[in-house]
Amino acid sequence: MHNAAFAELGIEWHYRLFPTESADLPSLLDSFEAKKIVGANVTMPHKRTIMSYLDHISEDARIIGAVNTVHVKAGERSGYNTDWVGFLNALNEAGVEPTGMHAVLLGAGGAARATCYSLARAGADSITVVNRTIEHGVDLVKDMAEAFPACHIAFRPLSYETLHQLSATIDLLVNTTSLGMHPNVSASPWPKEIAISSAAICCDLIYRPLQTLFLKQARKSGHATINGLGMLVHQGAVAFEIWTGQNAPLETMKEACLAALDVDP
Ligand code: NAP
Repeated sequence: MHNAAFAELGIEWHYRLFPTESADLPSLLDSFEAKKIVGANVTMPHKRTIMSYLDHISEDARIIGAVNTVHVKAGERSGYNTDWVGFLNALNEAGVEPTGMHAVLLGAGGAARATCYSLARAGADSITVVNRTIEHGVDLVKDMAEAFPACHIAFRPLSYETLHQLSATIDLLVNTTSLGMHPNVSASPWPKEIAISSAAICCDLIYRPLQTLFLKQARKSGHATINGLGMLVHQGAVAFEIWTGQNAPLETMKEACLAALDVDP
């Protein structure tokens, strides 16, 4: 999507992959100037590790505990997190305003941290984080509750009982786990026999496939759904704007993503 955006705006830059081991991150960053690299996206498992090698980290990335975008300017390396704003822009684009909502997040990894930050910052009334590994969920909730004392943020260990108890209270249900992601498309983070409150909006951060089993089940039971494409495009658009200082061509980026995912919208 970035190469399509550069081409559209006549920017003679190129976006390419640098598969990297953790131990090689410092030398890769050191080589940026010689390679004329002005910025980078960082994916798992480097989103946290990279923070040790940067000169500045944005306040949001510090609270989330992850950097997904690096910008190098005048020899200084700055780290940002664009996932949280990408998620919020995707919700807004779908007409969803989280203020006052009770959101339930399934998962407590990097994407969950960005999503929780996003919802708390947007004024959600309460957020319940449900996760398999207790320590990950407890850590996430501790960090976010400290940053957003007005939002009621709680952790519940993942179990059938937990999901059953929460099911009637949900305004926004977000799958931030990798359950259902290609190639394991027959997995779902939500048991289909537990009915979700009828007004709940169901959202999946996964974009491959665009219609996960979780979203298919939610649609079948009449819920509004949001897939991971909007977040993908919007987090990329914010990174593009950090690097170039220009408005991102959103439609072009979305079309490029859809072409790469080889699917219809
Ligand atoms: P991560 O840090 O590895 O976290 C994965 C989460 O999934 C953890 O909470 C993990 O639980 C949970 N999980 C994994 N397998 C599970 C299982 N079998 N049963 C229950 N829970 C399980 O990954 P991430 O970076 O947060 O990414 C998560 C998903 O979000 C991925 O599908 C990724 O593609 C998507 N994503 C999308 C966008 C976008 O732009 N749309 C952006 C970022 C991420 P434990 O803590 O118990 O291990």
